[in-house]
Amino acid sequence: MDEADPRAMGLFFEVFESLPRQGPGNRACARRALDLCRDLPSSPRVLDLGCGTGAQTLHLAEWTSGSILAIDSHPPFVARLQATLAAGGLSPRVEAMVGNMDRLELPAGSFDLVWSEGAFYNIGIDKALGICQGLLRPGGHVAFTDAVWRKEDPPEQVEASFADYPGMGRAEDVLARIEKGGFTLLGHFTLPDEAWWDDFYTPMTRRIEALRQKYAGDEEALGVLDELAREPRMHREYGEWYGYEFFVARRRV
Ligand code: SAH
Repeated sequence: MDEADPRAMGLFFEVFESLPRQGPGNRACARRALDLCRDLPSSPRVLDLGCGTGAQTLHLAEWTSGSILAIDSHPPFVARLQATLAAGGLSPRVEAMVGNMDRLELPAGSFDLVWSEGAFYNIGIDKALGICQGLLRPGGHVAFTDAVWRKEDPPEQVEASFADYPGMGRAEDVLARIEKGGFTLLGHFTLPDEAWWDDFYTPMTRRIEALRQKYAGDEEALGVLDELAREPRMHREYGEWYGYEFFVARRRV
């Protein structure tokens, strides 16, 4: 995806803004990760970084009774989540805000849990964990997913598709970074295949098909849609080479 091409980016968002989620994950995995967070206070203060349209924010809102701040850098995602929160009577306990996780002006040590599904790669894991260190109280939890390699020597197409994931390693590499970053691991697990398809690649494939009708005859748009359609196809063919891993850890006291 050429991020400097406004037409391509426009179509990218036209696909992604309508999806239930903007990355792999599902309700069962979020529940499993939350269950790994031991000793959360009864009404935790939660920060959801790179929340997208907020699929996981809404799960957390259902399962926790404290306040949640959800942040994403793409304003239309945040607007959609704000509308959902208002319609569900969840605001102001749950708040969505436009922001860059790399430049947050939030009080140090003010969160019990930082959550982030499929978003830390945008700034790199080490930096993201450093930000969590600052924002979490000692003993606070971080739960995040990240892409990891599962087999050596991936096909060229697969390697190229993860060019935007600088320093992508295996799960063991992330575990080492978690420890080095001042956290104690509580657990980790690989997202199952349905977490890629049910709420993400299946609706994405359908959306691309619908937009192919809308843009019939527009070769430029169809070319961008073809490119977007490659990702789910690649996952079907080469999914064993890479995965998404949920990591749950605790800031050392
Ligand atoms: N957590 C959501 C969205 C994952 S996609 C889900 O799992 O469905 C990654 C998200 O990170 C996108 O919504 C993107 O807009 C957001 N993002 C990318 N860089 C960011 C940054 N620097 N600060 C905040 N959000 C960012």
